[in-house]
Amino acid sequence: MARKSQVKNGGVLTDSGYDQTPNPKSQAPLALILFGPPGSGKGTQSKLLVKTLGIPQISTGDMLREHVRKGLAVGTKVEAKMKAGILVRDEVVNRLVEERLAQPDAARGFILDGYPRTRAQAETLCGMLEAKGWDAVVIHLVVDYNVIIARLTGRRQCPVCGTLYNETSKPPKVAGVCDLEGAALIVRDDDREEVIRQRLEAYESQTRPLIEYFREKGKRLYDVDASHETPEAVFRKIEVLIRKP
Ligand code: ADP
Repeated sequence: MARKSQVKNGGVLTDSGYDQTPNPKSQAPLALILFGPPGSGKGTQSKLLVKTLGIPQISTGDMLREHVRKGLAVGTKVEAKMKAGILVRDEVVNRLVEERLAQPDAARGFILDGYPRTRAQAETLCGMLEAKGWDAVVIHLVVDYNVIIARLTGRRQCPVCGTLYNETSKPPKVAGVCDLEGAALIVRDDDREEVIRQRLEAYESQTRPLIEYFREKGKRLYDVDASHETPEAVFRKIEVLIRKP
């Protein structure tokens, strides 16, 4: 059995990593905003943090894709925009997030992945957090432009189980085939080159300026270099930052 070497706020650090049992008493509510361009690893980091912190990942991209997949009313409104790499209307996204944050599993905190992305979304979120009396920590994943392009253009997905691969950094055992399902991997609609350009343009013009907004609002904001290190190394840096008093 792994030796317990250190006790932290939301879990226990053991030789083999963190155990997944959160300790509600010692854990103050945490609103963690993972911020960064497409391809910066927000989804990957969220999944690692969920295990450690015991709070849910709230990914607006995943929520919107689920609405599309299920053919729900919201899905039909947003599908074309998502395929084109254009941001969905603030009202739509804000409502989804508001409903999600009201769920019981978000009562002790949450990890926001891909939200907020516009000034109007950031203002709505800050209003919701103020109403709860919660502070936010913003982790800004900083990634070189060329690394982003390589990650997004090389990304492949299993159409059956959703597992993501990358042609260079995380290839499947057999080229073009899912390790788990044996299905032929596909390129996500919005990972096509012209759409990638549009997503990056939306980030530069509408999302990046929020860094200044977070600063003005006095939010704790940390830049983390996520270009060159492994996801696990980036995760360990984030861990240290969010546990700072
Ligand atoms: P990425 O961060 O790699 O672009 P996401 O899965 O977060 O991927 O988002 C996919 C698409 O979903 C976006 O291009 C956009 O159309 C839509 N979307 C996701 N989150 C938001 C948001 N907060 N506001 C507006 N549109 C969003």
